[in-house]
Amino acid sequence: MTYLRISGALAAALLASGPALANHHQAFGYAADNGAEKWGQLDEKYALCESGDMQSPIDLSSANAFGNIALSVNYQAGPLTVSNKGLTVQADFAPGSTMTSGGLTFNLIQIHFHTPSEHAISGKRYPLTGHFVHATEDGKLGVLGVMFEEGAANAELAKILAVAPEEKSDPVTVTGQSIDPNGLLPADRSVYRYMGSLTTPPCSEGVNWHVLKAPITASEDQIEAFEELMGDSARPVRALNNRLVVAPD
Ligand SMILES: [Zn+2]
Repeated sequence: MTYLRISGALAAALLASGPALANHHQAFGYAADNGAEKWGQLDEKYALCESGDMQSPIDLSSANAFGNIALSVNYQAGPLTVSNKGLTVQADFAPGSTMTSGGLTFNLIQIHFHTPSEHAISGKRYPLTGHFVHATEDGKLGVLGVMFEEGAANAELAKILAVAPEEKSDPVTVTGQSIDPNGLLPADRSVYRYMGSLTTPPCSEGVNWHVLKAPITASEDQIEAFEELMGDSARPVRALNNRLVVAPD
């Protein structure tokens, strides 16, 4: 199994610009002329988006193994820092929150969102997903995906939405307000696990993907607010190719 090694500079870029790791003259997006099927042609640095064979997202119902992955999170509440990246809304986290899986401890860097969800389960996409982006000390990436379905409002999402700028912005730290990542997780930690990629250019592979099977709820208003801020921001599912996907028992 190979892992993506990222430098400290790349880790900083992940924090600074979310899923878009660098600014390019030709912006990717989700429209006809710059959408997912064009990403590989927009910039030579995006070649993997087209040529990669370990890309994300996937339909998780294509799982070819079953097992209960031992996933543990040790998340701490911290300062609320939110930005509008243009294609996503992102909350940044200070060091101190970790996810452990497969003997690796990943540090939580940021949580960003997509509407609808990118991963699908038996063709079904949820209206909203949160991606918890982590990296190990030596630069292996690990993402935890959480699905949101319509229901009761989520208190942590409310904090993010209350301060999320309507237009693209630098990160804003809100004085006197904290956010607790634990409040964005379901109680059931049954998880799908596979090796994939960033779902936005440069589509770097070697990402340790974890997607929780159980959704949590967000209110109709909260889901609509994310849709208005971000628009359609889900890459179509990619081919599984020769990969192991472990589904929870
Ligand atoms: Zn994402």
